[in-house]
This record gives sequence, C-alpha cells and structure tokens, in this order.
Amino acid sequence: MDPLLPKKEGICDNCGHQLVIREDDTEKVISSRMKEYEAKTKPLLEIFEKMGVLINCEAKKGVKDYPELKRIVEEKLAQNLWSYKILILYLFTFIEQTENEGILS
Ligand SMILES: [Zn+2]
Repeated sequence: MDPLLPKKEGICDNCGHQLVIREDDTEKVISSRMKEYEAKTKPLLEIFEKMGVLINCEAKKGVKDYPELKRIVEEKLAQNLWSYKILILYLFTFIEQTENEGILS
C-alpha cells in the first residue's frame, strides 16, 4: 500500500499548513481501537458472511482502491437485494467513521 505522505514533509498538500501529530495517535489508543474492532465490527462480518452478502476485496493500494470497491458495491446494489442495501449502509458508516477519525484525510 502506498504511504499517504505529504509531498513536502510536515506540510499539508491541500492548504500548506504545518502538519501536527494528533495527541491520540498513540500505541495505547490504536490498541484500544483494535479491541473495539474485535468486539463490534468483526461479529458483523460473520453475520454478513452467513447472509451471503459479504464481499471480500484485497485493498493494497489504499485510497486508490476506492474506485474498484465502489464499482463492486454498485454492481451488487444493481441486483437490488435488500441485504446489500444494509451492507452498503454499514460500509458508508464505516467510511464516515474512518474519515472522522482522520485516517483518510
Ligand atoms: Zn490542510
């Protein structure tokens, strides 16, 4: 996966401001997020798998994988199955959360 590094070290590509390290960017916080994933997200994956709606994709290019993921999701959505609509809702909630946590931005 390509690292999401700025073009100029320590400077934001979008606005030119100096980049800062978040206070919560610590091993302890990341470890707690991983535990939260195990407790809250992983059980959902098992449920979706049993429903037959789990789509597994290898995302090796990071954000650049998004168009391909979007294409796959739209293809499934076109089949108009209610279960896929739930899955997509889940995915977008996840993306929203990830963006709020500043991982993608
Ligand atoms: Zn910026």
